[in-house]
Amino acid sequence: MRLVLLGPPGAGKGTQAQMLSEKYGIPHISTGDMLRDAVRKNTNTGQAANAYMLKGELVPDGIVIDIVKERLLASDAKGGFILDGFPRTKKQAESLDGALKKSNMPLDMVLYFNTTDSVSVSRLSGRRVCKSCGANFHIINIPPKAEGRCDYCNGPLIQREDDREITVRNRLEVYKKETSELIDYYKQKGLLRPVLGDLNAEQISLELENMFKQERLLDKV
Ligand code: AMP
Repeated sequence: MRLVLLGPPGAGKGTQAQMLSEKYGIPHISTGDMLRDAVRKNTNTGQAANAYMLKGELVPDGIVIDIVKERLLASDAKGGFILDGFPRTKKQAESLDGALKKSNMPLDMVLYFNTTDSVSVSRLSGRRVCKSCGANFHIINIPPKAEGRCDYCNGPLIQREDDREITVRNRLEVYKKETSELIDYYKQKGLLRPVLGDLNAEQISLELENMFKQERLLDKV
């Protein structure tokens, strides 16, 4: 199963990607997670990306395209992948098409998570992430079993700097300006499947499972 998860920040892509990855045993490839990891490790990529990320701006295409291309070559991506937060520009989408064509791994579906700005803002301001493993929680919608600790690795839960309201508003603007044109791009390719992003995580998960069954995607897992 080869999926792209498209939609504004706070639409629930990361949560669903995490759930799908556990359910079907295919890797969740999040460019945001990879970039944050690079920033933590202070690599050249991290140094180049950090200032953009803090402002909620897009990191230049060349940097992101390189890390995704390399990640897709890893052996665990041969059996499928869930791309979350990539592509975000037409140039990234075209590069992805080229790379997947070359390795004969066409996309099966692009799940478009549609949600309103107010839902995005409330989800992102309540989001907490594990400092150690990057797992996502929400203080109300997906509370951790023990307050402030990760369910998976017991690491400390923190608020991302770019989840503060002023940066969230900018990220929503950047999405509208730079990424929303990909809705049409994938619609034209017949790959786009709208998802009701305002529903809660369990409801969206059921919606996706039904969609996968209908389109016989589960045969590809
Ligand atoms: P995310 O975790 O997907 O919300 O991404 C966090 C931040 O990482 C974004 O606000 C961007 O600064 C950067 N980023 C993640 N993915 C991309 C991408 N595909 N293209 C450009 N910048 C990205």
